[in-house]
Amino acid sequence: MAFLDTNTTIDFAFDAQHIWHPYTSMTQSLPVYGVVSAQGCELTLDNGKVLIDGTSSWWSCVHGYSHPTILAAMQKQLSQLSHVMFGGITHQPAIETSKRLVQMTSDNLTKVFLADSGSIAVEVALKMALQYWQGRSKPQKQRIMTVKSGYHGDTFAAMSVCDPDGGMHTMFGNNVTKQVFIPAPTSKFDEPLNQIDNDALETAFTQYHQDIAAVIIEPIMQGAGAMRFYSAAYLTKLRQLCDQYDVLLILDEIATGFGRTGTLFAYEHANIEADILCVGKALTGGYISLAATLCSDEVASGISDSPAGVFMHGPTFMGNPLACAAATASLDLLLTGEWIQQVKDIETHLLHTLPAAMKSTQVKDVRVLGSVGVIEMRSSVNTATLQKAFVELGVWVRPFSRYIYIMPPYTITEEQLTRLTSAMLVVADTIVPNKNNQTLISHG
Ligand SMILES: *Cc1c(COP(=O)(O)O)cnc(C)c1O
Repeated sequence: MAFLDTNTTIDFAFDAQHIWHPYTSMTQSLPVYGVVSAQGCELTLDNGKVLIDGTSSWWSCVHGYSHPTILAAMQKQLSQLSHVMFGGITHQPAIETSKRLVQMTSDNLTKVFLADSGSIAVEVALKMALQYWQGRSKPQKQRIMTVKSGYHGDTFAAMSVCDPDGGMHTMFGNNVTKQVFIPAPTSKFDEPLNQIDNDALETAFTQYHQDIAAVIIEPIMQGAGAMRFYSAAYLTKLRQLCDQYDVLLILDEIATGFGRTGTLFAYEHANIEADILCVGKALTGGYISLAATLCSDEVASGISDSPAGVFMHGPTFMGNPLACAAATASLDLLLTGEWIQQVKDIETHLLHTLPAAMKSTQVKDVRVLGSVGVIEMRSSVNTATLQKAFVELGVWVRPFSRYIYIMPPYTITEEQLTRLTSAMLVVADTIVPNKNNQTLISHG
């Protein structure tokens, strides 16, 4: 790499003074680590220390960093066309990405909206649902229903469907639309639908269906809101009720999509189809921001029949060619199918190692699905303190709330994975009962 400069000095003082980081204070800044380069599953810090990455940079970097195929695709695209407006113009990178998304997702999803981030893909999905019912002469269907403990992003409509207790709703009050909340699913993964969930779903649909445009949910895994897995039968029931009561089903696969839970999309565990599907995070293999919202022919034609006659959204960087080139290369790597065995191997490893954490009285639960491993503590952890301990152990793991968890790149080696899980066990075991019961907001 001709341009690689690992002698970069990092101006930490400027950073602390002037730059926001996710979910941080500008007066009491949390420590940050300087990264100068990344290769495979390793991040290199400014002091030369190398860390094994357990986060895939928040679910996204599934093939590892500096993958030659993705780099080559991006470099070629960069010198040809980095960006051009999408209004009145199209280009092959957007077409190639969309072709693959249509091919890889369920047969009914045929229309693609290319957005610039996951939160925007969620905004687009919600707007699609509202416009759809305007076009189907049921304009009273204007509310969204969802489950508690969900996470769908940080913009206003996305916030309105995030978990209502404790987080964004209380902070932004009336600026956040009041949506309809069903209790979080309690039926566990691999178990049938229990009576509690069944009744909660039926009651909610009976009571609210006339006003409900759509249900939005993260299939199988509730991510940043809870780090927990639930029954596929829950989704089957939800699909059935949506059909019965004329409600659209929006699946948010931004974290779960592209193999993370062991199937290409998490909805495959339940064998259902979404009316609207959001993808993001791993779409470009984690190289650059891109997300997409897919919908069915029926949803698209409903929107086109609405009073507006068009779908009312169109961001400046819609369908960015450079991002689409990265996405196309990343999707082609997934289409080789190599991820299937890789994710299975990670799952086997996590199932063999992480349950040992249960010997600590401070550990409440250990959960594994696909390439996601979670140790849930009894009380909230101190992110900065644990982060430091992990860095000292040579790994990058970023706990939040009560969760010490990993979702590494699929390309991680057995040896690297052992380093990660050993570090998790060591750190979980050092945690003492926390009297202050520190709580941290969301996933920062
Ligand atoms: C991360 C995430 C989002 C938001 O995506 P951004 O790219 O951060 O805006 C939405 N939904 C789910 C399920 C996510 O995990």
